[in-house]
Amino acid sequence: MIACPCPVCHSTDEKDKRLRSSILVESSTTRIVVDTTPDFRYQMLRANVTKLDAVLFTHPHKDHIAGLDDIRAFNYFSGKPMPVFANEMTQEVIIREFPYAFTDFRYPGVPEIQLNTIATDPFMIGDIRVEPVQVWHLKMPVLGFRFGAFTYITDANRIDEAEKQKIHGSKIIVLNALRREKHISHFNLDEAINMTHELGVPEAYFTHISHQLGKHADVESELPEGMHLAYDVLTITMDQH
Ligand SMILES: [Zn+2]
Ligand SMILES: [Zn+2]
Repeated sequence: MIACPCPVCHSTDEKDKRLRSSILVESSTTRIVVDTTPDFRYQMLRANVTKLDAVLFTHPHKDHIAGLDDIRAFNYFSGKPMPVFANEMTQEVIIREFPYAFTDFRYPGVPEIQLNTIATDPFMIGDIRVEPVQVWHLKMPVLGFRFGAFTYITDANRIDEAEKQKIHGSKIIVLNALRREKHISHFNLDEAINMTHELGVPEAYFTHISHQLGKHADVESELPEGMHLAYDVLTITMDQH
């Protein structure tokens, strides 16, 4: 956190140096990013991503959309608009926050965005099947996404029973765990642990972590078996089906 004097913000452990939450999902032919954070440009440079097939959005909060302008580098090298998949609520905010990308006469070099409306039905991006899972971020419906046996859920503090069914059978889940104290719109650490047990997913990684949670090494050592704190540039390889 900017200007914060706490030991986590001053830790020398690379796993305590966290940018905003986002993931890259890839098969042998298709590469998708979920959310374009304010750190998107640096995240793409750091991971040396030279080709991106689509962007998928969970919800329209600033820490999940602010980096969208920087997809223009991908436009430049691909010569094509970027397919963006978002629900109507998120699209409204994207159009409001990046109006210059949606006017009839656009300044050369602005991001070229091709909007695709999604709801809760599964859809394909290249050879990757995407199944939305709708979760609650206080009162905002947020989309989690299931890709094969991998489920990604950020920015949630509640999941309806019917949506839990869509998660069952996943081998790996990513869940947000903001801090130890209760929070109005995010799972805290205990809630994320309990939700993982309840969903019966054998392997879990917690993300969207605040500096208030503590140092990576300390928290990691106290987590139940199969549960881990995620960290920047963590890579998970698994069977697509
Ligand atoms: Zn949010
Ligand atoms: Zn967030």
